[in-house]
Amino acid sequence: MNIKTVGVVGAGSMGSGIANLAAMNGFRVILRDIDEKYLRAGLDRMNAFMEKSVARGKMTVEQKQETLARIITTTDMKDLCEADIVIEAVIEDLELKKKVFAELDEIVPENVILATNTSSMSITVIASATKRPERVAGMHFFNPAQIMKLVEVVRGYQTSDETVEEIKEFARALTKEPIEVKKDTPGFIVNRIMIPQFIEAIRLLEEGVASAEDIDKAVTLGLNYPMGPFTLQDYAGVDIGLHVMEYLKEELNDDRFAPPLLLKQLVRAGRLGKKTGAGFYDYESKKKEAATK
Ligand code: NAD
Repeated sequence: MNIKTVGVVGAGSMGSGIANLAAMNGFRVILRDIDEKYLRAGLDRMNAFMEKSVARGKMTVEQKQETLARIITTTDMKDLCEADIVIEAVIEDLELKKKVFAELDEIVPENVILATNTSSMSITVIASATKRPERVAGMHFFNPAQIMKLVEVVRGYQTSDETVEEIKEFARALTKEPIEVKKDTPGFIVNRIMIPQFIEAIRLLEEGVASAEDIDKAVTLGLNYPMGPFTLQDYAGVDIGLHVMEYLKEELNDDRFAPPLLLKQLVRAGRLGKKTGAGFYDYESKKKEAATK
């Protein structure tokens, strides 16, 4: 494998996690965001993650310092010209992703793989913004990227076999388990299965069948999932869930993915889960408060 330097675009939850993961596994990392403040926030998240690892004896203070020393941060896209692979992790907006890929295509040497961490968007459409669609693929990490084992390697319409194999090898070098998604289908595998479960959980809540807490308990204890659907949606941000449902409904032309009204209302009310400290659990506690008044 010829990858030594990893470019990451976007220093948010996923980009900072992926940059941290690559640096922990010995790769040099160039991390790009649009403003210094996002880069600083990304580095703070990495620091916090590694401090916990040090406290648990999983990493030494020296290893933490060495990891941070492998990461270069920049607001200048041109600095990515030295990367041997680039992973894009900007917000889930197709037009923005196309713009970023078109820009990368001009900067990064033509044989370098450009991968996207999109959760659901079309790899083929993103690749169409470049002159190297055979070197573009999905590399879908899960949150937190440092811990979650799975990487979905997603083929676009023109992705080459070599690109898929190289990404799988790179994923293994990051201590991940890659699986190949052979067709560019919205939501890939995990979200295609998970989103209908979220929708069904919200419908149960809307119908008054059980509380969010009890539905979460049913799923964690009955299906042996580590987290229930409401805890998970609040953690990821309910606006992201809504966005993915709308996209799947539209792309697959399938009403099974239609977002329930309650979710739309939470998002309209700005109660977005983790990012604002609200979400489904906040909705439940407000409901209880109102009932006792
Ligand atoms: P986020 O909002 O935490 O971070 C996005 C970052 O991208 C921000 O720091 C923003 O400033 C930066 N950005 C915007 N435009 C940019 C540009 N032109 N160049 C460089 N940086 C730019 O988002 P996130 O949760 O990290 O999600 C990123 C991607 O990963 C999305 O496509 C999302 O669907 C996907 N994803 C998210 C999760 C999750 O659980 N959060 C899991 C898997 C995949």
